Order: sequence, then C-alpha cells, then structure tokens
Amino acid sequence: MKKQKIIFLDRDETLNHDPGYLRDASLVQLKDTVPEGLSLMREFGFRFVVLTNQSGVGRGIISPQELSEVNARISKILEENSIHLEKFYICPHTEKDNCNCRKPATGLLEQAMQEFNADPEHSYLVGDRMRDILPGAGMGIEGVLVPGRETVQEEPAPNLVFTAENMLDAAGYILQREFEKKAAEKIFYAEQKDAIRSRMQELKAKNKKIVFTNGVFDILHPGHVQYLYQASRLGDHLVLGLNSDESVKRLKGPERPVNTALDRALVLSRYKFIKTIIIFSDDTPVETLQTVQPAVHVKGGDYIAEKLPEYITVTENGGRVIILPFRKGYSTTSVIERMRRRQ
Ligand SMILES: [Zn+2]
Repeated sequence: MKKQKIIFLDRDETLNHDPGYLRDASLVQLKDTVPEGLSLMREFGFRFVVLTNQSGVGRGIISPQELSEVNARISKILEENSIHLEKFYICPHTEKDNCNCRKPATGLLEQAMQEFNADPEHSYLVGDRMRDILPGAGMGIEGVLVPGRETVQEEPAPNLVFTAENMLDAAGYILQREFEKKAAEKIFYAEQKDAIRSRMQELKAKNKKIVFTNGVFDILHPGHVQYLYQASRLGDHLVLGLNSDESVKRLKGPERPVNTALDRALVLSRYKFIKTIIIFSDDTPVETLQTVQPAVHVKGGDYIAEKLPEYITVTENGGRVIILPFRKGYSTTSVIERMRRRQ
C-alpha cells in the first residue's frame, strides 16, 4: 500500500469548541474555518485521523456512550461538508494512570501511523496545545498549532513549524510546506558533493545525457525561459547551477540579487525541463562542473568557448561546450530599470 498523507488532528479546541468535558452531542460546535481548512487539505490528498485525550472518561465525568455520541456528531457535521474523519484514537486515561497514550506520549500516534501506513514526511499534526504536536517530534512529523481557548505560552515543540490563525491558515501553511518539499527533491547545494555525484552517476548509468548551465536567474523574463528551455533540449537532464546570494553580490553589486537563492530555486524548480538545481558560491562554476561532469556545458551570451575559465574542466571530462545566444532585448537589469521608471 502506498504511504498515506495523514493530518493527525486534535479534537477539542482544534475541531470543536470545548466547554470543558464535552459530553452532550447537541452542544458540538465546529470552530471557525474547520470545514474550509479540511476541505482544502482533502483536495490535495490528505486523510484525517483524530488523536484525542479524554481524561473525562477516566474520571467518570463522561460515559463511553456520551463520548462516542460526541465523536459521531463531529463526524456527521464534517460529512455534511464532504469531509471524512477516518478514525478517532482515544486516550481515556488520567495523568495519574501513567499510560503511554495520553498526549504528549506517543502511543496514539504510533498506533495510527502504523494502521494508516502514514508517510511521516508528508503527514502533519494539528492541535491547539504543544502536547498535540510533541508526539511527532521523535518521528520527524511536523506540527502546526492552531489557537484554542486554553492555548498558553508553552515551550515550542521541536517539530512545531508554524502557528496558524485558524484551520484554513494551517491548511495554507501545510500546502506551502508540501510545495517546498517537492522543490527540495531537485535542489542541492554544491557542498553536497556525494549526493550530487551519486545522482549524476545514476543518470549516466541509464545513458542520460547531462546538460549543465549556470547563472543568476533573478527576475525571470522570456530570455531566461527560452535559454533554459533550449539548453534542456541539448540533452536529457538539465542541471542548473544557481549562483548563491554572496556570489551574485560579488559579481553584480550589493543591490543584487533581488530574490534570494532559495526563492530563485523555488521558482525555477517548477519548470519540468529543469531537473536538478545546484546552488554554488564560487565565482565560476568550475568546481561544480568537476562534480557534475556533464556531456554538454551551455553558456549563454557571446562568449568564445575556448576562453571560458571552465572550458578545460568540461573538455577534460569528455564534455562539449555550446554557446547559446540570448534572446534580444531582455535582461534583469532592464526589467529593474523599467520598474524604477514607473515608480
Ligand atoms: Zn492513555
């Protein structure tokens, strides 16, 4: 079975308002934006599981019957919004019982992770207290806090990644993290030589022709996109060396880059024809080229191949250098000047 993307939800003050030991199903009221937030996550393939401490049961304040009626009521309201809660995992114990399931203990989460074959990398904990987030700390599951009636200043859990305003805001953040994680599969730093080498060797073993090019790609314009697209057509796998922020400052002055290397990489990562991005800090791509050893190195502009500092590195490793002309009339500098004139 494919690993599942699960949102592990706390119940009281996360899904529903909590008057304290909620035992009357007719009093169930969802919190603001819960249907909207869960709907959005559902659209992106997440499933929902509830992990809830219910010490009222252990104290004899809430009967098991009342508990299941309240849970059924919450489920029903959400079903009316086309949202399905897969299962409620419940700890009925009190603190004194010293069980392994009362959050922040990990028992409920471990059981749910296993039963739903959850992918820790793409699952999240959402709750109004740190104890809702903490169970995921040792398993590398990220947590998002939503405010609740009792939310107090607590020591942040190590796996807390965001404090949201409400469930919809939490959903927005989780989608953002998923976008970043997808991008991160393509993004490397030049220092990660072993990881880059093994990725390149895997491709070469499959007879993939690796094409390399490098640049700043600060404010994207048609010249950039035409250049990168055409570079990618010169082989099977385009590796883009992206100048780090410090190296851009050295090369182009203190006002550049406008966008950080990570932001530039995020934008570029969504172009399908860009397969790997390597952020490098040297003034020349020589060392990165030594790691990648491409079949083709593409340089944009009106250079003479033999005069490039990287020419020898490329050719010594059996590669060719191809100079691609830039599209006429476009440059980041001219875009910035145009913006300044319009201010
Ligand atoms: Zn328990």
